[in-house]
Amino acid sequence: MASPSPPASSRKPYEERKELDGPSESENWKPETEQEDSTHGLSRNRIICTAVCLIALLVTGAFVRSLFVEPPATTHPNLLFHGDNVRSNGTHDFKRTVLIVSIDGLRADYLDRGLTPHLLDISKQGLRAKAMVPVFPTLTFPNHWALMTGLYAESHGVVGNNFWDPISQSEFHYNQIESAWNPAWWLGEPMWETAVKSGIITANLMWPGPPKTTSGFSSTYFVPWKNKVPLKEKLDQLLQWIDLPFEERPQLLMAYEPSLDQAGHKAGPYSALVNKTLTQVDIFAKDLHTALKERNLTEIVDVVFVSDHGMTDTSHPEHIYMDDILGEGYASIEHEDGWPAMGLRFSANANVSHNLELLRTAAAASEGKFEVYTHETMPERYHFSGVERIAPIYVVPKIGYILTTHAEGDVGINKGNHGYDNTEPAMHAMFVAHGPFSAVVKVLHQGPSGSLTRLARRLLSRPNKGWHSTSNDTYVMDKFENVQIYSLVMRLLGVDKVAPTNGSSAFWDKYF
Ligand SMILES: [Zn+2]
Repeated sequence: MASPSPPASSRKPYEERKELDGPSESENWKPETEQEDSTHGLSRNRIICTAVCLIALLVTGAFVRSLFVEPPATTHPNLLFHGDNVRSNGTHDFKRTVLIVSIDGLRADYLDRGLTPHLLDISKQGLRAKAMVPVFPTLTFPNHWALMTGLYAESHGVVGNNFWDPISQSEFHYNQIESAWNPAWWLGEPMWETAVKSGIITANLMWPGPPKTTSGFSSTYFVPWKNKVPLKEKLDQLLQWIDLPFEERPQLLMAYEPSLDQAGHKAGPYSALVNKTLTQVDIFAKDLHTALKERNLTEIVDVVFVSDHGMTDTSHPEHIYMDDILGEGYASIEHEDGWPAMGLRFSANANVSHNLELLRTAAAASEGKFEVYTHETMPERYHFSGVERIAPIYVVPKIGYILTTHAEGDVGINKGNHGYDNTEPAMHAMFVAHGPFSAVVKVLHQGPSGSLTRLARRLLSRPNKGWHSTSNDTYVMDKFENVQIYSLVMRLLGVDKVAPTNGSSAFWDKYF
């Protein structure tokens, strides 16, 4: 991943101070001291000259330093607002609260269409990332579980929206409740489990995943998935939870909205339907923001808008015919996992090495239209190998191509799809945050009580050092992996006892 280079954090001024102080207080002064030792005394002129030089150096050093470093900022009150601390909104006490909202299929660059003024306004008051990188495969269930657990698919076990598990000899189906709600599929510890273990009340509004984990934990409140629930109803449910009495009120809320992804599949990412749905989602974001503002909760509730993956146009794809490539071998495929990639398991009596050779030869001849991987050759950046649930052979098409057969043709192929390489910009997701967290980030990077002066910030931002201020003053983070979200939420809630993740625990250090 491209992890952000260090921003203008509170550590930076110390490093700069060292650099600036070096020449004035050590190198220049030291020779004079040595001379004093060797001559056993100094002339009056030399003493005057030395004193003048020293004063000049100190004054110059202080001036140069003042260009770069302001007095250390006192700890921002929001940094101390977590755990059992409470803050009043004027009428009621609240604990620090995090609301994470997933808008399925909101591709990162949808925010540049001029159709999401409210999300942009929220990000202007808070912050956004250039993009958030989904885990491979770039599908809904692997990524929603990565967001919850901070784990790659090979670690959290949900390696596709549908896949075969040779250990349990059963198939995972995302759209069949008796399969999808079986906790055995969902490895790792979701943030709601970690929070509940720490005594935090949680509320889950349709987030993809099971209602209960293998260790028996559930979120405190749970509303199961139902299609076509109007955004207004979802907003009402969230606010109903927020308005509960202190002892019953959730501190961690998770919500899921699928309409934009459905529009993207149906009509493609450049369609009027996607644009219309994008506008509706944007109004939902505004209504949520307004409702929190009316309750005087913007310094109490952190709202984190995320998505799981992007969307690419598949209305005129080039077909790759698997039956042409494999010939008779095609009939010996026993299980086909994933989509639009294809995880292949051949029957016991099939000539697997011959089939693999056919696939590899065809991939080489295709000049990049698709790739064929085994666990040994899977790109490391996919973090997608070494476990039984991942099929031993994976065929991954490039954007613009679909894997099919002459019999299947275009059946079931939509105008938009995802599931491709997670380095493709069209697969990238969004991250927009607003609340006490973003207020701290802004103070660190922008405000007068921050640790860097305007000049120092300008110098540091050339070239982009992980942050840049756009013309309208929005703060934009470099793209980062979605396995970092678990740690962010835990830190916001002040939960110390966390589960291991594939994120870096230090990733958010510079913001806290
Ligand atoms: Zn999705």
